[in-house]
Amino acid sequence: MRVLFIAAEVAPFAKTGGLADVALALPRALASLGADVVVVMPRHRSAVAKAEMHEAARFLVPVGGQPRECVAYKGALPQSKVPVYFLGNDAYFDRPAVYGEGGEYADALERFTFLSRGALELCEALRWSPDIVHANDWHTALVPQLMKHLGLPHSKGARSVLTIHNLAYQGAFPRAQAGAIGLSDAALEPYLRGDQVNLLRGGILTADLVNTVSPTYAREILERGDGLEGELRSRADALHGVLNGIDTAVWNPAADTMLWATYTRRSLAGKALNKAQLQEELGLAQDPTAPLVGVISRLAEQKGFDLILPAFERLLGLGIQFVVLGSGAPEYEGFFRDAAARHSGRVAALITFSEERAHRIEAASDMFLMPSRFEPCGLNQQYSLAYGTVPVVRATGGLRDTITDVDQDRKRGNGFSFEAYTAEAMVDAVARAVRTYRDDARAWRDIVQRGMDQDLSWENSARLYRDLYRKVGR
Ligand code: ADP
Repeated sequence: MRVLFIAAEVAPFAKTGGLADVALALPRALASLGADVVVVMPRHRSAVAKAEMHEAARFLVPVGGQPRECVAYKGALPQSKVPVYFLGNDAYFDRPAVYGEGGEYADALERFTFLSRGALELCEALRWSPDIVHANDWHTALVPQLMKHLGLPHSKGARSVLTIHNLAYQGAFPRAQAGAIGLSDAALEPYLRGDQVNLLRGGILTADLVNTVSPTYAREILERGDGLEGELRSRADALHGVLNGIDTAVWNPAADTMLWATYTRRSLAGKALNKAQLQEELGLAQDPTAPLVGVISRLAEQKGFDLILPAFERLLGLGIQFVVLGSGAPEYEGFFRDAAARHSGRVAALITFSEERAHRIEAASDMFLMPSRFEPCGLNQQYSLAYGTVPVVRATGGLRDTITDVDQDRKRGNGFSFEAYTAEAMVDAVARAVRTYRDDARAWRDIVQRGMDQDLSWENSARLYRDLYRKVGR
């Protein structure tokens, strides 16, 4: 099976979020299952610095009625033979950021038309015919319709798959910009809504198969789909949900070189050591019995901070220590800085982005709090399971699919969850976790070990994607 996988960002070459992780891990896992996968991404400035690549092809890509030069450079995904083609056009991609500095770059529609069309032109240049063309998010949502209407011989017979990583980002532009795309009025129609071009809308309506990153999110967006629920419902038969896996080479407490001490489910002493070290480093009270609650997150409304802020004193009233790592909305950053100053010894706030600190906090914490308002999949609760850190989550999207409440299912429970998006429900769930932690060490250890026993690797998810490709294949 030949798969062309197109994404705006691919780790480690360019990353702003979960899409980049998926675009690295899934193609690699598909290749291990025997698929012939080619990855295509823009030649962002960060990629030039991070990847070894050499020129492989040169061709023209029409954008806005003008032929634009495209130089395709070939490299490979790390620790694999999976080829990555970086589509180069310095006017579009030799920039400091992937999407924009402050706001989105003003020519975003042109940039991603170039990527989408360029990926199909690359197939012509390479004389390579994929069976499946896998597009991701709004940036490449034009691809299914371009395949049908450009009539390029190497891609017109392929089937298209569109994965939605977050429906909140749709690629909406003033209709006056639609000329950049170069489709006829009829072919463009699915991408138009009111006086706007909405790329995700068109992708949803025209891809052979649409999927999102968890089964529950796939169901939820039929009801609350950020304005696209009608379109999603019209494709309900073609809409699937496949959970993301985690990179178990990077997130493995038995071999994690960023930790103060490694550990396994059988010998958890190393976990206690990480807790003691983190407490010392962050000036938290050196108390091994205080339940340490971690939060690692973009500080964005989606992640549930509207519950944490009003309930913060109540949470501390449960006797917990609290550490947050994240950056984002200034009001949340300010709140946590103040809280750390007011409650020194009990609260630590690291307002930054740091992989190393993320690993150390995952290892040191007893509980991980993730009260998201919505969550397409969520990675951090899965890292927490791997690190023996008990997730306390709101039962939404991928959080519902990965975390089973201990009080609902004693045998299979791997965390604590709550339904209503209210501060009361969240505090109640944290309180239940703290009670179990304090009063029943054996039950707690069982929950920790059940999480650590789970297979969260990409292999399972890649098999499900392969099944979807087969299902949609001719
Ligand atoms: P989203 O993609 O919505 O931000 P996910 O849970 O799917 O949420 O993935 C977020 C990723 O970003 C995780 O790998 C998480 O560890 C990481 N992350 C978020 N904030 C930080 C931070 N401040 N420092 C380090 N890693 C972070």
